[in-house]
Amino acid sequence: MPISPRLEIDSITRHFDGRDVVAGVSLQVAPGQVTCLLGPSGCGKSTTLRIVAGVDRQTTGRILVDGVIVSDDSQYMPPERRGIGLMFQDFALFPHLNVGENVAFGLDGGMRANRSRVLDLLDRVDLGGFVDVYPHQLSGGEQQRVALVRALAPRPAIMLMDEPFSGLDNRLRDDIRDRTLGLLKEENTAVLLVTHEPDEAMRMADEIALMRDGRIVQQGAPYSIYNNPRDRAAAGFFSDINIVRGTSHGALTETPFGQFLTPGHADGAPVEIVIRPQHLRIDFDRQGHGPKPTPTDGTAARGVVKRARFMGRESLVEFVMDHDGTELRATVPAVFLPKPGTALWLTLRRDRCFVFPA
Ligand code: ADP
Ligand code: MG
Repeated sequence: MPISPRLEIDSITRHFDGRDVVAGVSLQVAPGQVTCLLGPSGCGKSTTLRIVAGVDRQTTGRILVDGVIVSDDSQYMPPERRGIGLMFQDFALFPHLNVGENVAFGLDGGMRANRSRVLDLLDRVDLGGFVDVYPHQLSGGEQQRVALVRALAPRPAIMLMDEPFSGLDNRLRDDIRDRTLGLLKEENTAVLLVTHEPDEAMRMADEIALMRDGRIVQQGAPYSIYNNPRDRAAAGFFSDINIVRGTSHGALTETPFGQFLTPGHADGAPVEIVIRPQHLRIDFDRQGHGPKPTPTDGTAARGVVKRARFMGRESLVEFVMDHDGTELRATVPAVFLPKPGTALWLTLRRDRCFVFPA
């Protein structure tokens, strides 16, 4: 039996200054599930979250918690009665309370009645020894971890998080994300997480809802959105992309990298073959010293290295292509730094190409 949603956002819109900044968003989050609203800055993510929290109100649509309407045209339940935990960008600790008291703030009986839970939570984010310390004595990252466990302490059935890790430095961020995720899963919380960072969404989410201009344009598991983007913008949101242009004839498009099947594209329609840099292959078989073997199968195109950079995990090589002067970028998971001017043959991993109308 499918698990019924804990949180249901039903066709909400939010009108500001003559336009819909949220335009018909529907989304469900089940217990124990992390759904991520992912999209560029200004697309309406925070507004959506604020409406769910009850700190803003939708123009039309409904919010339901466990099947019960908490907000629609005629009803409005205030934030504190919705059983929702909040972790926003601009979190603030109470400066006059110590760490333990901050975490225990929302718990019946305060620190006295909940000491073991508070200590356990603080331990989980490596702040076990900080219970009596005051916020001004903590670093920004430590304060953020306290705010996180303060939000988790009352075991909210729903947790809303708006870019909660953005203030942390890189190494700390991965660690805190994983710990937070562990805690939320353990408590079977339904989580709606807002971020503009695809890496964060891929790392945290069971389900990603990709948002653009107030609408959800694609929704699915991270691997499914990454591997089956619905358009060029969706593909390009997750990584750098390369574009090879062509024209469809008889459901085929000829390119310098060979023929591609392009069913559903009209004769004469311009198409774009989109490919991520890690799926562009430098064809080492065709290189080598001495006379270069000329590719005969027509699936390799020649480019000249413009620039090569070592990025740590990989090398990024930029090419100017012989056939039309366009630039393509390939990443190689090794130290590979050919000199500018070097001519190399490239192929595409065909199973990783996306075909879109231009
Ligand atoms: P995101 O969180 O995706 O960056 P927001 O939801 O914060 O985007 O904002 C979406 C759009 O709504 C933006 O263009 C923003 O300027 C506008 N907006 C947000 N809040 C208000 C408000 N109170 N009054 C007018 N416009 C607003
Ligand atoms: Mg925002």
